[in-house]
Amino acid sequence: MRRLLVLFGAFLVAVGGIVSAQSRNLDIYWIDVEGGAATLIVGPSGDSLLYDAGYAVDDRDAKRIYAVTQLAGLKKIDAFVLSHYHGDHVGGLPALAKMIPIDRYFDHGDAVEEVDRERLEIYKKVAGNKRTILKAGDVIPLKGVQAQVVASNTEFITKAVKGGGPNPTCVNAEQKAPAAPENGRMVGALFTYGKFTFMDLADLDWANEMALTCPVNKLGTVTIWQADRHGNLDGAGAPALLGAIKPQVIVVNNGPRKGLGQIDQNARSITNPGVRNTPSYSYEKIAKLSGVEDIWQGHLAMADPEHNTARDLIANLEETAECKGNWIKASVAQNGRFTLTNGRNNFSKTYTAR
Ligand SMILES: [Zn+2]
Repeated sequence: MRRLLVLFGAFLVAVGGIVSAQSRNLDIYWIDVEGGAATLIVGPSGDSLLYDAGYAVDDRDAKRIYAVTQLAGLKKIDAFVLSHYHGDHVGGLPALAKMIPIDRYFDHGDAVEEVDRERLEIYKKVAGNKRTILKAGDVIPLKGVQAQVVASNTEFITKAVKGGGPNPTCVNAEQKAPAAPENGRMVGALFTYGKFTFMDLADLDWANEMALTCPVNKLGTVTIWQADRHGNLDGAGAPALLGAIKPQVIVVNNGPRKGLGQIDQNARSITNPGVRNTPSYSYEKIAKLSGVEDIWQGHLAMADPEHNTARDLIANLEETAECKGNWIKASVAQNGRFTLTNGRNNFSKTYTAR
């Protein structure tokens, strides 16, 4: 009898393990790296994917990323995806790789400008023989979630995903000259979990956003869009992209004075190139889009204090020197219900994926 009870107990533990493994949510953490990027995705099976690794500065961002991996209960990172070789995305990686094991590395390949070559070489040393070069259309392994590469090395998927099709907002849409070539080489990915989708195009610039969505929207609509270029919506956030993907919730990984609210002097209009950009009130551009339920921000945009989301939806209110690096988290259930939480004040709000 006693032996039977022990066996029965072991059976319950096993079943409990299976149930909890299957009922886990998909979790997405926007780790604050002061206007760089570091997005950690933990799939329903517990597999993890880190998309970019913030800046190098005194290992600040590596430490912040490591802290969130511990909060998420990770012993390792299964996949690291690097969008491109700019210092606000790859800088924290060498230090992070010493703090926690990383199984595999994914990137856009070896084509870079001279200014980015040193960072490419450092990255290659860290990745070693665990490296995979991505092409548009590839799928990054993440158990239970479809992680489709939609852009890599200035090439894009050629066939629209489910929900894509002709994009009427391309007609007469404003076009802008491309930014630095590295901003076009971006690895961009679309994560699909049931009805819920998450789009991370990192720093893809306006011209290439339009290449992806005009005249055919190849991306479909998205539930959460991580604002391109940290919310610098002079150089990204083309109306034709936004009209295509129709985001439900927007998360902006801006810094106190970077991205949202910042003016990109290089982003000149093709139709009116003589005009210097004037303050553009980035926040208003996305806040008034129809269908956007909320905008969450990594930081209060201090350069444009009048134009920010509600304070409860902002994770950090200080300048970088005083910043505690609070995260934003999305927790997504299989039925499409998802909750965003502000790591600063624990404010949370639940939505239903459309
Ligand atoms: Zn960036």
